[in-house]
Amino acid sequence: MILGDLRLLGGVAAALVCAAPAVALGELSFREGPRPPEASHLFYEFTGFTHVDGAFPLSVVFVGDPVEELESGEVAEAIEAASRAWSDVPCSSAALRFDGFRETMEEVAVEEVPVRFSTTDLDGSIALTVYGSGGDPRNGMQVILNSVNYGWSMEAAPFQGPETGEPVVDLVAVLAHELGHVLGLAHTREHNAATMAAAYLRDGSQRVLSADDKLGICERYPSPAGERECDGDGDCPEGPCVVDAGLCDIYLADIGEYCGYEVQHCPGFCRIIEAEIGVGYCSERCADDEGCPEHHRCQDQEGVAVCAFSPEAEEEPAGGCAMAGGGGAPLGAAAVLFVLVSAIRRR
Ligand SMILES: [Zn+2]
Repeated sequence: MILGDLRLLGGVAAALVCAAPAVALGELSFREGPRPPEASHLFYEFTGFTHVDGAFPLSVVFVGDPVEELESGEVAEAIEAASRAWSDVPCSSAALRFDGFRETMEEVAVEEVPVRFSTTDLDGSIALTVYGSGGDPRNGMQVILNSVNYGWSMEAAPFQGPETGEPVVDLVAVLAHELGHVLGLAHTREHNAATMAAAYLRDGSQRVLSADDKLGICERYPSPAGERECDGDGDCPEGPCVVDAGLCDIYLADIGEYCGYEVQHCPGFCRIIEAEIGVGYCSERCADDEGCPEHHRCQDQEGVAVCAFSPEAEEEPAGGCAMAGGGGAPLGAAAVLFVLVSAIRRR
């Protein structure tokens, strides 16, 4: 069966589409009111498939030829990096390793997970993970990467998208997502900055697991040692420490905070306001104005109610609020926009 896919999204409409899963696995639920602060890592989902004890480390092999823009060594490097992301979670016993190249699918052993480039367009998906059928679900499990509609790179290319011709996607980030499916994780609900978010994040941030991803894999395959990776925020490289789980999270932005093609850190979605240069602010679905922070109103956006920046919603003059620096995220977005434009022009 087709397990899950990953699509490239851009622009306002596409950013909203990212909330609508392309597969019937863990459909995004509608959340009433503001998100409880402790709940941002509680949305992982499972496909129902579990590897048996002793299956780890899973052997991942590459089958056939890479696309012309990649060397075989780079493909190996990407599979190793994506495997390491999941293998390094201290509270989980799950592990994968790159086990070499195979010329054809016939050479793949039943316990090996093949990765290959497609010869078809996969209905526009960037990649698919397919489970096998019959008694052993590993028999036929494979990861297929779309070589028809997408170019592939060892780095994220945030400003390349459908509007600029063939989009180029980050092989390591896509593989990290697909290997999550291989391990039995489905798309996470609501949390759209995670590796297992349904939409491809242009900035390559799906290379790094969020606490949501880690909690999922640790629940499914707990490590007997149950090791922690942090006891406080100071132990984590970028985000906070989820202290009760002992896991480092990625940085997650608040509603109204700057985001763009190159900074995809919104738990909800990035509402792009300048499509040409791909900048906007973080937003989320909402039920009413109460569900949005100050300076925002719950407004209809192409049939979906989302928190939208609305300075006239405030009693105080918007200029005064913004100049005082309190909650002036869209002002911040404008400032970053200016800096970004300046940076682009300087290049
Ligand atoms: Zn997926």
